[in-house]
Amino acid sequence: MKIICIGRNYADHIAELNNEKPDEPVIFMKPDSSILRKNKPFFIPDFSSDLHHEVELVLKIDQVGKNISPKFASRYYSSVGLGIDFTARDLQNKLKDKGLPWEKAKAFDYSAVISSHFIPLDQLPEKQIEFRLDINGTTRQSGNSGLMIFSFDELIANISKYFTLKTGDLIYTGTPAGVGPVKINDRLQGYIGNKLMFDFMVK
Ligand code: ZN
Repeated sequence: MKIICIGRNYADHIAELNNEKPDEPVIFMKPDSSILRKNKPFFIPDFSSDLHHEVELVLKIDQVGKNISPKFASRYYSSVGLGIDFTARDLQNKLKDKGLPWEKAKAFDYSAVISSHFIPLDQLPEKQIEFRLDINGTTRQSGNSGLMIFSFDELIANISKYFTLKTGDLIYTGTPAGVGPVKINDRLQGYIGNKLMFDFMVK
């Protein structure tokens, strides 16, 4: 399986990092070795001193597809989970300055937290899925799928022009504003609506 991540999909997050609004989705990938599940602790890697959380809605692909049109895209996913795209922001900024790929800053081991369960989309209000990240009991990021620049269906259509989607692939759909550093002993709890999706410690 592969993990496809979308950058710059919420206007408020684009503004906080002084990035440009994209004409089409910004895509990068993480390998399967980046997955962190089952509320296991996240260990801050020694190559970063500015390790940021990015909470994101995550789609799970249900069937193989290539060149999917937006109007049929909803047939290819049926549930949504919650994840964190951990980012070594200091390293990412160095790579961006040099025009180099981001993988070392975003695709390292255990950088892709994913909830153990996924919620069927027919149980959620379409295009208004609220989610948030609390750190030590205080809300630090909150988002709503209705505020995405590119919708789920537009993302699936664009991604599948370049990459065949396979059953079990995950799509991290971008983060809203409020990204920031984590520190040792932080407790991270992610919610979709009022449902607790993950709860783990930073070590
Ligand atoms: Zn992200």
